[in-house]
Amino acid sequence: MIRIGQAGIPLSCKGRTNKDGLVYTKQILDLNAMEVQFVRGLYVMEDEEAQFMHDYSWENDVELHVHAPYYINLAGSSEELDLSFEKILFSARLADKMGAKTVVTHPGYYGEQSEKKTMKKMIRNIKKLVGIIKKEKIKVKLGIETMGKQKVFGSLNEIIEICTNVKDVIPVVGLGHIHARTNGSLKKRENFEEIFERLKTLKLKHYLIHVTGVMYENGNEYYHVPIKKGDMPLAPFIEIVLDNNYDITFISESPLLEHDAVYIRLQVEKAIMKRTGKEEADYRDLSEII
Ligand SMILES: [Zn+2]
Repeated sequence: MIRIGQAGIPLSCKGRTNKDGLVYTKQILDLNAMEVQFVRGLYVMEDEEAQFMHDYSWENDVELHVHAPYYINLAGSSEELDLSFEKILFSARLADKMGAKTVVTHPGYYGEQSEKKTMKKMIRNIKKLVGIIKKEKIKVKLGIETMGKQKVFGSLNEIIEICTNVKDVIPVVGLGHIHARTNGSLKKRENFEEIFERLKTLKLKHYLIHVTGVMYENGNEYYHVPIKKGDMPLAPFIEIVLDNNYDITFISESPLLEHDAVYIRLQVEKAIMKRTGKEEADYRDLSEII
């Protein structure tokens, strides 16, 4: 199953609530995923809107994810940690009300600490966080995202190590971030294959993938750009997904949001058509190629 959507309310959607964004994602864009963004501080969502998100996404088969606020440090001081827990739990509770699958968070920073010490703290704190999530009977999975800067905790290996050590935590694979952090290493099929190869140890049943073009230098991400403006090709990644029939969700976090989500869709459908030899394809229907 392939799902495609964008991070946040589509730019071309006139209404600016998440509710408007969800309906637009389904009705106008004909996409089947959305990642609700609580990235600017604590966004308040009324119960009524959360309930609508829950019912509408269920009835219309749109998969929801939630992104917690950006400034999080799960390896920081006890003050930073309290605030981070608060933000993530706030997002997780709302995600649960919406029936979302994942609450995505950035892990945090090394600061003055060694990589090893940071890892230890991360594992300890994330275990604690997952404990609270479980205790509150929140059914949403905690997703930890790969990050695109050297000084920020979150290489692919680090995220995998967290997920190996903390049960029920999943990796959120930011392709643009990995590409930037490895100074543009994602070029060919084998480069993308290596990502899946490394993830294998986690035995994931579903992959949550963030996609964007990215500007970077010396292994550090500067900013996101439209997919076509970046130098990371998408086609080899899509080929691997189709070859393996992965259950996967693509979330566009490019500055063009839904326009690039639609671009991903077109790339997927082009790849399907290449296989079927037909002039039409629907990214939701892979029955002819598997
Ligand atoms: Zn993120």
